[in-house]
Amino acid sequence: MHQMITREDCAALDAADKLAHCRARFNLPAETIYLDGNSLGAMPANVPARMNRAMEQEWAQGLIRSWNDADWYPAPQRTGNRIAQLVGAGQDEVIVADSTSVNLFKVLVAATRMRPGRGVILAERTNFPTDVYIAGSAAEMTGCELRCVDPDAVLDAIDDNVAIVSLTHVNYKTGQRYDIEAVTRRAHEAGALVVWDLCHTAGAMPVHLNRCEVDFAVGCGYKYLNGGPGAPAFVFVASRHQDEVRQPLTGWHGHARPFAFTHEYEPHAGIDRMLTGTAPQLGLIALESALEAFDGVDLEDLRDKSVELGDLFIRLSDQELSGLGFSLASPRDAEQRGSQVSLRHAEGYAIMQALIDRNIIGDFRAPDILRFGFAALYVRHVDIWDTIAALKEIVVSGAWNTDAFRTRKSVT
Ligand SMILES: *Cc1c(COP(=O)(O)O)cnc(C)c1O
Repeated sequence: MHQMITREDCAALDAADKLAHCRARFNLPAETIYLDGNSLGAMPANVPARMNRAMEQEWAQGLIRSWNDADWYPAPQRTGNRIAQLVGAGQDEVIVADSTSVNLFKVLVAATRMRPGRGVILAERTNFPTDVYIAGSAAEMTGCELRCVDPDAVLDAIDDNVAIVSLTHVNYKTGQRYDIEAVTRRAHEAGALVVWDLCHTAGAMPVHLNRCEVDFAVGCGYKYLNGGPGAPAFVFVASRHQDEVRQPLTGWHGHARPFAFTHEYEPHAGIDRMLTGTAPQLGLIALESALEAFDGVDLEDLRDKSVELGDLFIRLSDQELSGLGFSLASPRDAEQRGSQVSLRHAEGYAIMQALIDRNIIGDFRAPDILRFGFAALYVRHVDIWDTIAALKEIVVSGAWNTDAFRTRKSVT
């Protein structure tokens, strides 16, 4: 039997936390525990002043001159280069544009065109729906078949008819994580290319896209990167592929000379050809300034803390929640897990609403998953203790069992 964990133990872990100082970089609501940074990251405290300057000076006063004078125009490249450092990519291999869904479409079609004669895009059944929907359209438009398999059948499904293996590194519901290096190696041995979705990875843990010889990747700006609601997304193309890539959304910002306004499309050299239209500049400025929250942060420390928080959550749920109808939906082994822990409970929706009513914010994914994300820049160990204590209280007292908590809202 393990020693019981107390709230004092959690406070002691916070006192020794190397990243504790990073919490002050965020503007968090008082008396609130935020465990949903995997869905919408918290707001870094420096962002409002930067946005205010962007609006009052650069937009209001600078007007169109600001594309040059305020360096708006190179913001997709600049911000991409900052994100590159968080995902193990080189300079000029990452650019910020569009949404994850749109970037995935561009990359899947581009990658499929690089493997003519192969007929399959391999995807995975339990992936986030947009990834599967987009892969379906990309397959249809390139004359491929979309083959969706179970997570543990991926490696065996890679054969020499597979053009692209398209996977999400960390599963959005369970937090289950793939071995990027092993899957990429297997895909390359079979002659396929890989596309990794890093939505639940970037800003949560280190990844090494170049060390693992990844071909393409996409990811989200508004989750662990804290770029704000609907922040633009990023796309990675390994430099060795950049000259060959032809993406399907041939907008003017991906053109070799956008301001020559020529009739014929000619792709820009390098990563810029992944651009489509005008950048959502305000969103991009918010994302770029939000990334300052990562300044000086060693991603290995970030990952260590995230694992510590996840392991603590699991140990405390074993200690406090047994017999209350919960079960673990995430891998117990941190090696297999991203930066979240999910629990199943038959009354999960109402329990999560009761928890949110107590200012402890996680989220719910149908049919029965309560999700808790651990953004290690701002989540504390005592937050984990308090969350588990509240879950226990809600179930033991039956406080979840009201009409208000059972009624589904449109965004869960
Ligand atoms: C969050 C998420 C998305 C979001 O896509 P959008 O285009 O930004 O709506 C896509 N895929 C995965 C795996 C995600 O977790």
